[in-house]
Amino acid sequence: MNTTILDGKKLAADMRADIASQVAQLKAEHGVTPGLGVILIGVDPASTSYVTAKEKACEEAGMYSQDLRVPANTTQEEALALVQGMNADPRIHGILVQLPLPKHIDESAVINAIAPEKDVDGFTPVNVGRMMIGQTCYLPCTPHGIIQMLLKAGVQTSGKHAVVVGRSNIVGKPVAHLLMRKAEGGNATVTVCHTGTRDLAAFTREADILVVAAGRPDTVTGGMIKPGAVVIDVGVNRIPDATKKCGFRLAGDVDFESAKEVASLITPVPGGVGPMTITMLLYNTLESARRACKGDG
Ligand code: NAP
Repeated sequence: MNTTILDGKKLAADMRADIASQVAQLKAEHGVTPGLGVILIGVDPASTSYVTAKEKACEEAGMYSQDLRVPANTTQEEALALVQGMNADPRIHGILVQLPLPKHIDESAVINAIAPEKDVDGFTPVNVGRMMIGQTCYLPCTPHGIIQMLLKAGVQTSGKHAVVVGRSNIVGKPVAHLLMRKAEGGNATVTVCHTGTRDLAAFTREADILVVAAGRPDTVTGGMIKPGAVVIDVGVNRIPDATKKCGFRLAGDVDFESAKEVASLITPVPGGVGPMTITMLLYNTLESARRACKGDG
């Protein structure tokens, strides 16, 4: 099989260069610098590394970035106050609360406290509802990044059978919605699989486009893929590896070696969906700053 490995890093770099020039233009024309506020509670290593990558990307795009890193014993009231402070701060156009939160904090209460016009992750009920009924909103970053990858790779989605493995609120459900909506990068017939699905392989083998977001390595192997399918691996799993300085290696949810023998196009992990997620966060933050300039933020 002549398989294309979709380089998410390159796609993301191209999009980020374009975003950086639009940021410069917004500064020059309106004197406004798009700003992202990030709240990180606790010291989870994966969360810390995501947040650091997001801040670096923000700075490289010429955006303002405000980083609040607070200890794991922060109370719910304190967490809500941090969000409210960013809601009221005109330098901040987008707010990101890094999940998961420590168990004593009600995650949905904190997410719901984000002003919808600054919800650049697209996680608040207002944004999710707007997305579902096709109104202007911030599309959630990972699902939006996946659709952008498909579009930029020239993958035709209309009329295709897309199978999504996973039904989480942040990946599975929204990507299924975007793939089925009547819009560019959508119009597919979508099947969603989860742990209640009997015979997962029977469904994945029917997929023209297979999106895997299960959070478990090797959930999909080459034998579960239809020859010529497009495979988007969303998973990020840390596999202990004593040969690595950091003590682990990253793997997706798809067994890359066997899958690449069957798929026509596949995303690697790392270097696939991940860089696009951060890029869409910058995209949404820029859009929020633009809306604020127009007075409809
Ligand atoms: P999640 O909340 O744990 O959801 C996983 C989903 O997969 C659940 O719906 C679960 O089904 C389903 N599932 C798990 N094992 C399955 C199996 N064997 N067969 C069928 N379905 C199965 O995870 P998530 O937040 O969606 O994230 C998924 C993965 O993507 C994780 O590895 C995460 O780290 C990664 N991720 C990457 C990015 C990125 O930017 N690259 C962004 C977000 C997430 P049930 O609902 O029945 O439990």
